[in-house]
Parts: sequence; structure tokens; C-alpha cells
Amino acid sequence: MTAHRPIKSVAELVASGLVSDATGLGAVAAKYAIGITPAVAALIDPTNPDDPMAHQFVPTLAELVTTPDERADPIGDLTHSPVEGIVHRYPDRVLLKAVHVCPVYCRFCFRREMVGPQGLGTLTGVELDAAIAYIAEHDEIWEVILTGGDPLVLSPRRLMQIMQRLAGIEHVKIVRFHTRVPVVEPERVDADMVAALKASGKTTYLAVHANHPREFTPESRRAIALLADSGVALISQSVLLKGVNNDVETLAALMKLFVENRVQPYYLHHPDLAPGTSHFRVSIDEGQALVTALRGRISGLAQPTYILDIPGGHGKAEIGASVISGSDGCFTVRDWQGVTHQYPPKD
Ligand code: SF4
Repeated sequence: MTAHRPIKSVAELVASGLVSDATGLGAVAAKYAIGITPAVAALIDPTNPDDPMAHQFVPTLAELVTTPDERADPIGDLTHSPVEGIVHRYPDRVLLKAVHVCPVYCRFCFRREMVGPQGLGTLTGVELDAAIAYIAEHDEIWEVILTGGDPLVLSPRRLMQIMQRLAGIEHVKIVRFHTRVPVVEPERVDADMVAALKASGKTTYLAVHANHPREFTPESRRAIALLADSGVALISQSVLLKGVNNDVETLAALMKLFVENRVQPYYLHHPDLAPGTSHFRVSIDEGQALVTALRGRISGLAQPTYILDIPGGHGKAEIGASVISGSDGCFTVRDWQGVTHQYPPKD
């Protein structure tokens, strides 16, 4: 599917051929933003009703179903926001959410009530001043995580300005970006963007969000290689999604592609309780079985940590199935083939 401009409306979805029957989609678009870049549109197969790329980006009527356990702020950002644009959930790090727009709008997004044209917008100059002042005043903050929205939608000039202000804060040692841009709009990643990402002079990390092996196109590989070659440390972020990657072959291929492209597998998120996303959620039992199967199948380099963000703002918990049980120096441990052993051994 060839599109030359981003798709942002139901009419454009129909015109591009990504949707044939738009009945009811106006109601979805009224609640949740639509955004599909040309790079993503090119990956969608509209003739396949089970296409994993379409599932991630093309709106469906299933989004109008909100279950009782879903909530507008599923991971409790607002509970830990001392000033606009800052989330301070853990002592040594903060989120800095300078912008609430994205190049694409993922149908499973955990911040779907906050992002998009009707979302929380971009921080004003005064709000950004207050956010930077908060970071400067709290010398326990070692790491600043730019997220959003997608921080790489900012121009290199705007990003450079923010980075230069962080450069002056001595106690901040790490600046981390969470972004989908290298995959969904790889042409944005150029020498100017890389220079801006590194302009704080701190150690720069960038979490590349990808959920399916098909997202590794020649263009996205080029963008990721440019970041890696420039010395930006790359880690992965994926969401375990029904109909997209909830099978061991797809997950194994995805994690191996991260490693092959110099992106260290980091988090595989259990999907959050965001409104209208129940059709994406797998059970935790299924997620544990999948990550256990990965252990027996691919290199240790390619193992992600399976993570649940506890609703209410209580932070992240590792939820991979435990392989050890017991106490008092007598444990039973399960190996990668599912066979149990005593530790320490009796013989
Ligand atoms: S890029 Fe991230 S913040 Fe934006 S819609 Fe997708 S998941 Fe949500």
C-alpha cells in the first residue's frame, strides 16, 4: 500500500484502501486519534484480515468496547505528577513528557486518553521551565526519560534546546528517549537528529519500540544503525499483543532482530488496561508460557524481561514465571527444557 502523506482520518483510511467498510469508525475516531505514516502504510496488507501491522495501526469497532477494569490512566501517571510534564514515580528517575503527539497512533496505546490532537498537547514555555526547574531542584534524579507522545516528533532544534538545558544539571547522568520514530518514520533520523539526541553531553539511551519482525525494514535498519554508530545505547521496548506477536516464533524473530540490529532486548510489556484495548490482551498465564518458551529457544542476548505496570501508579513488576521454589537452602529449579533439579544437588 503506497501512501505519500500521513493518514489521519477515516476518509483517508478509505481513500488509501486500508479500510473498505468505514461503518462506525467515525465514533472510534472521535475518541482516539488516527495516525499512520507512509512507512507503516506500506507494511499493511489490507487483503489480510489478520494482518499484524493492520491490527496495530488501523482502527476497528472493537475499540468502542470498554471493560470495567479499564481506565483512562492505566499506569497512574497522574498520581505521580508533581508539575505538568513530569512523572516522578521512582526516586532516581523522572519522565519528561514534553509533547503528547506521535507520528502514529497505536490502537493499543496505554496513554491513548492523553495523546493525539485532542490530548494534553505540548508543554508551554512556562511549563517546560517549571519541569526543568523541578529536575534541577531534585538532586536524587539520576536519569531523565523523554517520552510522551513521541519525543522524536520534536524538531532537532527544539530537542537540542531541551538537551542543552539538561546539560547544565550536574546530577543528571543519563538521558533516555522512548520512541517509535526509527521504525515508523525512519527518515526523521538523520545527522541533525542524532546531534540533538547527544547534545546534553550525558550518556544517551534510546528505547526502540517495535512489536513485529516486519517493522525491521531496510529504512528502519538504516535509522537504527545511524543511532548505534553514533554511540547512542539502544534498548528495546515491545508490547505483548494478541493477534500481533503472541506466538513464540514471532517473538523469537523479533527479539533476534533487535540483537542483530544492536538493540539490547529490554522490556516486553504485558498490555495495560487502557480503554478499548481488551481485544489485544493475552492472559498473564499465556505471557509467562511464551517467555518461558523463549528461554529454551533463543540466545540469552535476546531475552526480554516480561513486565507488568501495576495499575494505580505502583510501578513495574517482573512477571516471568519463576523457575525456582523452596527455602532453607533446599530449592527446586527448572531448566530450559522444563526438567526440575534440586539445588544444592543431593548427590
Ligand atoms: S507511539 Fe507510543 S505514545 Fe504514541 S500512540 Fe504509540 S504507544 Fe502511544
